Amino acid sequence: MTKFIFVTGGVISSLGKGIAAASIGALLEDRGYKITLQKFDPYLNVDPGTMSPFQHGEVYVADDGTETDLDLGHYERFTSSRSTKFHNQTAGKIYNSVLTKERRGDYLGKTVQVIPHVTDEIKHSIKKIADDADVLIAEIGGTVGDIESLPFLEAIRQFGLEHPRDEVLYIHLTFVPYIKAADELKSKPTQHSVKQLREIGIQPDIILCRTDRELPESIKDKIALFCNIRKEAVFEARDVSNIYFVPIMFEQQGLDNTICQHLALRKQGRGLKKWKELRTKIENPSDVVEIGIVGKYVDYADSYKSLNEALAHAGFANRLDVKLRWFDSSMFEKDESSLALLKEVGGILIPGGFGGRGIEGMLLAIEYARLNKIPFFGICLGMQLATVEFARNVAGLADANSTEFDENPPYRIIYKLRELLDVEEMGGNMRLGAYACTIQSKDSFAYKAYRQKDIEERHRHRYEFNMAFRKELEEAGLKFTGISPDGKFVEIVELDDHPWYLGCQFHPEFKSKPLKPQPLFVDFIKASYMNREEKAK
Ligand code: GLN
Repeated sequence: MTKFIFVTGGVISSLGKGIAAASIGALLEDRGYKITLQKFDPYLNVDPGTMSPFQHGEVYVADDGTETDLDLGHYERFTSSRSTKFHNQTAGKIYNSVLTKERRGDYLGKTVQVIPHVTDEIKHSIKKIADDADVLIAEIGGTVGDIESLPFLEAIRQFGLEHPRDEVLYIHLTFVPYIKAADELKSKPTQHSVKQLREIGIQPDIILCRTDRELPESIKDKIALFCNIRKEAVFEARDVSNIYFVPIMFEQQGLDNTICQHLALRKQGRGLKKWKELRTKIENPSDVVEIGIVGKYVDYADSYKSLNEALAHAGFANRLDVKLRWFDSSMFEKDESSLALLKEVGGILIPGGFGGRGIEGMLLAIEYARLNKIPFFGICLGMQLATVEFARNVAGLADANSTEFDENPPYRIIYKLRELLDVEEMGGNMRLGAYACTIQSKDSFAYKAYRQKDIEERHRHRYEFNMAFRKELEEAGLKFTGISPDGKFVEIVELDDHPWYLGCQFHPEFKSKPLKPQPLFVDFIKASYMNREEKAK
């Protein structure tokens, strides 16, 4: 029988509801339960894939190709829950299916309403993915009190009524601010937020209080009294120096015990052994390595969320503290001498990206990494540009380009997927989700990292390497070390005679976890550190 945990948020946004939900998932997994995590986003966009990374942070891609909210990235990083298109529902998606049913006549001429039709659709979407999980944790996006979240809150209220008491648990994450002038923590915002929740008919079973300091007993008493909840059910969600310490912080207060008691789950925890070992590693790095990221959205750290995390994970694995230094590539276009700044970093990474701005600057940075033997990691756009740089500067194909940036270049090194020979048009025309790749030789950076030939990684791009140029570039020295099993797509390119130079068409960052760091990142960080060490000699 599946149990359900609903996580709501109050007072303000950005309290870390996604991380709280993911950490609860990690706690339950530690007890041996199979969990699944689901996110409800109250906005009307049908999918987050089309939303600007500036506004909304990264688009996270699941194995099945669904473009989701970045919180689903946290879910997969903290737990072994796998996301699919059913794990991220937006109000837009829900309404879309209600309206489709209405057009089809499924409602037999009845008046179609938020209650029951929209709320039924929401409840249905929860039950649909619950089957093989012991516990389903659903996070309701937004803040209690938003007009947009109402149908979701109403749906989870009904859900509680329709299930036995020990099958459904409501957790509310609120904010307890510290007011400096009064030297006091304030519980009033929490009281108000819970009051709003209760007006809708939801009595939280557990309150998590986001705070920057210890909650005194007196505040817990007050919250318990005014929010109609037992004091033992008021927990701290205190700021921690690293998000991966959150599961431990919760466990130390016994949050998992309270959850399990309520849901009549009896298995004991294993004490978060792996998470505690990880914490020791994170807290005791042996040294620091700096990585230069040359990109376009450099001012928006959230647009590269998974990338940042994957680099940090690789640092944990190498016992290194990874510092990131962001370079806006257009800087190199304006002033080539600024490329010398790249000498100061251990390794250079060019992440994914879309659109023409800053491309020439990225090409300059790649050339610099190639010539100066600085470890280089090109991801998606970064890989495409590595082949363009190589074509232009090594293979002598002047003005070679991707048709994304030049409609009619003399050499179309990177070509639009659907224009490629033998490839039928794809819906939405992006290659999205997990695809297989075969590593071609054991003598490659890729094989050394993965230690296996057959791998699978996630994609999100429109353009591909044009196979017509494979032979020519190979003869000039570029190695094609990863190819799709059908032989149609280039997945990984490398250079010999370089400490570490690898470009991949996929996004390896989406599958990296703190307890299971992604191999390419691990080796890139190792090579970057060795590069610095050697230069320091
Ligand atoms: N713009 C390139 C493409 O669409 C690369 C995309 C990416 O880096 N994710 O193919």
